[in-house]
Amino acid sequence: MVSRVIPVEDFDLVIFGGTGDLARRKILPGLFRRFLAGQMPKGARIIGAARSELDDAGYRKMVDEAIGEFGGVDAKRADLDAFLAQLHYITVDARGTDGWSELHDLIRFDLVNAFYFSVAPSLFGDLAERLHDYKIADDDSRIVVEKPFGRDLETAQALNNTLAQHFDETQIYRIDHYLGKETVQNLMAVRFGNLLFEPLWNNHYIDHIQITVAETVGVEGRGAYYDQAGAMRDMVQNHLMQLLCLIAMEAPSVFDADAVRDEKLKVIRALQEPAPHHIVRGQYDASKTAPGYREEAGNPQSHTESFIALRCEIANWRWAGVPFYLRTGKKLKARSSEITVVYKDIGHSIFPGDEKRHRNILRIQLQPNEGMELQVTIKEPGPGGMRLIDVPLDMTFAEALGPDAEDSTDAYERLIMDVIRGNQTLFMRGDEVEAAWRWTDPIIEGWQRRGDVPKLYDQGTTGPEDALMLLHREGRRWQGIKE
Ligand code: NAD
Repeated sequence: MVSRVIPVEDFDLVIFGGTGDLARRKILPGLFRRFLAGQMPKGARIIGAARSELDDAGYRKMVDEAIGEFGGVDAKRADLDAFLAQLHYITVDARGTDGWSELHDLIRFDLVNAFYFSVAPSLFGDLAERLHDYKIADDDSRIVVEKPFGRDLETAQALNNTLAQHFDETQIYRIDHYLGKETVQNLMAVRFGNLLFEPLWNNHYIDHIQITVAETVGVEGRGAYYDQAGAMRDMVQNHLMQLLCLIAMEAPSVFDADAVRDEKLKVIRALQEPAPHHIVRGQYDASKTAPGYREEAGNPQSHTESFIALRCEIANWRWAGVPFYLRTGKKLKARSSEITVVYKDIGHSIFPGDEKRHRNILRIQLQPNEGMELQVTIKEPGPGGMRLIDVPLDMTFAEALGPDAEDSTDAYERLIMDVIRGNQTLFMRGDEVEAAWRWTDPIIEGWQRRGDVPKLYDQGTTGPEDALMLLHREGRRWQGIKE
């Protein structure tokens, strides 16, 4: 068995917003798990940088508590202390002068250095400018930015231009944590590491493809942001679009950042605008016990969608005529993310009495558990003639691969380590983000022009009835959420 623990060289990682929610819930616990996996060299340092007045000891205490709450590991005190000793803190004001000279003095310029912008996007420009003015970042530095990458094409272009003033595209790591999932990478291994799948990966053999990202939570504390965004901007433009690209792209000539991202970009450019009747928007209603979307978002008149289902097509030779159904929503009946590739049925059965139209289905599950299975048709064991049954073939091979198959590496930690290694393959390039907005904007403008109002749906369901009809009227059905 090949060990996944590839050591990285010493580094300085500065987390702007190092006291914030994202840093405490995801980034720092993730880094601790990498430490436990032996991937954090002794000489590496993590420098929290935020507005709060803290010293190193105060920051270590905060991170200690965050790991206790969100770390998901039963850590030994000695490990925790060793990790915390690699942490530092500096008080900076992104919009002022405080802390910047001190940060400059702290950074070791002969090592890999990376700056994680875990702050509101409105501060990205200020940070980039100061990193440059105080000569903290140089041509080898890396910056990591989080979604949202704008709220439309115009704001995304402005954001990209702001970053481009001080950083080259090869230095910018735009995180979409869906791309850091083990199964997403396994999807590429399966597609491009086997002869078996790729010849059938087209409109001759695939009936349709579905992508479902279903959440059980509502908007919770993010109501003010979410109400300005909605499911289309918050989920489809980035996460679902990225998954769609990896499923639909042509084989890159080599697995490297630009080759992969060039192919993804071609998919987005070929993506057709869905007809209005191929889009279903929904908003979760109040129930007897729980408030509805409008109450949670604090906007009684809101027409923002907390659910969207749509059918679109990719206009190229491989995919012409193959519907791609995308669906995502909040307060649904299960937390489940799945890409489902539904092959065409076999067309003719040689088995008398076998009425069922058997078809292969490849399920790529991302949440709540990661996994991949292929539905195949076999003979039902035992006497009594040729009775056929459909069974799932587990393609995660947990038994064959042992504990490594149950990789618990969180997407964030995997991606952060890719930043340190300088590997941009699983990060979005600026032109991809802009192309995705070029597709998204006219759809949203269409709703505004037509005064489109989302359909109310009951919490704990699969969304509005119309979303089911989107497939039913074409003789298909949704797969991604277990009934
Ligand atoms: P947060 O409000 O919890 O934290 C913000 C951080 O920024 C704090 O550490 C604060 O001290 C710092 N900060 C604010 N103003 C500052 C200034 N002038 N100078 C220096 N530091 C300043 O926010 P968050 O939830 O951690 O989100 C951070 C970013 O990540 C946002 O862009 C958000 O959209 C994005 N994001 C967050 C999540 C999440 O799960 N929380 C998920 C996806 C994306």
